[in-house]
Amino acid sequence: MAKIIDGKAFSANLRGEIARKVALLKQAHSITPGLAVVLVGEDPASQVYVRSKGKQTAEAGMNSYEHKLDAGTSQQDLLALIDQLNNDPDVHGILVQLPLPDHIDEEAVINSISVDKDVDGFHLSNVGRLSIGAEGIVPCTPLGSLMMLKDHLGDLSGLKAIIVGRSNIVGKPMAALLLKESCTVTIAHSRTRDLPAECRQADIVVAAVGRPEMVKGDWIKAGATVIDVGINRIEKEDGTTRLVGDVAFDGAAEVAGAITPVPGGVGPMTIACLLHNTLQQACRLNDLDVPE
Ligand code: NDP
Repeated sequence: MAKIIDGKAFSANLRGEIARKVALLKQAHSITPGLAVVLVGEDPASQVYVRSKGKQTAEAGMNSYEHKLDAGTSQQDLLALIDQLNNDPDVHGILVQLPLPDHIDEEAVINSISVDKDVDGFHLSNVGRLSIGAEGIVPCTPLGSLMMLKDHLGDLSGLKAIIVGRSNIVGKPMAALLLKESCTVTIAHSRTRDLPAECRQADIVVAAVGRPEMVKGDWIKAGATVIDVGINRIEKEDGTTRLVGDVAFDGAAEVAGAITPVPGGVGPMTIACLLHNTLQQACRLNDLDVPE
């Protein structure tokens, strides 16, 4: 039976470490990291997520600035707000909650965020830096996944990894990170031929597909480490719903060496990594090292 990689405990520990370092930064340099979150419209899932970000930011001892704009806000007004945040020395991280309403050009908005405050790591310059292996800001979900992999496996060098999914926010940055760790990386997608056979070769399987329980137990090599990024809400027979990942957990857990559950695996790591990125940028913007 696989070891369960407990993302809830891992993220609580990481947030505790961040809070300790924030306190050191305040004490030594009177700097309080600040994260600005911009929400346009009233998407219920986004509201829950933004509330949770605000709470965890405050718990880590950081300043949280929330900007809630109505759904009809023009692109020009949104860009003006971002410009103001880019120039605000108390703001070290800016996150624009996606998706944005249809009349707003998402790419233009993301690329208007200062490269050094882009704590989601979606700005083209940060994407480019990651792809050439240079220092930059790494997207939160892949970063959290990598932290858990390294904690469990140590050195990843030479391991075969497959990432199922090639999105810009998960699959591609995950591939770049694992390549940087010297894994031999395969990126699979909807056109991949014989996906089960591709997966069976891998020491590390990262599933980021958005299809409930698609990756089956008999696709997993014995002893492999499985990171399930998927979050899918499915209906049960009694009409209630539950969350499942992209991996058929029970079958995979019988053969894998270690596996992340859903919920309680990658999910909790995402906000923890957002705080990690904000602390890191608060230090970089002030030419300081992150306190130890
Ligand atoms: P996208 O929909 O952007 O990408 C899905 C990818 O899966 C695409 O590359 C697609 O291939 C591929 N795919 C779809 N069907 C198949 C198939 N049958 N076989 C192989 N590959 C397939 O999803 P995201 O990357 O945004 O998200 C993936 C999952 O991760 C979702 O469940 C999402 O909810 C979750 N997620 C979780 C986060 C967290 O905090 N834990 C954060 C972000 C996402 P193609 O390119 O060919 O279409």
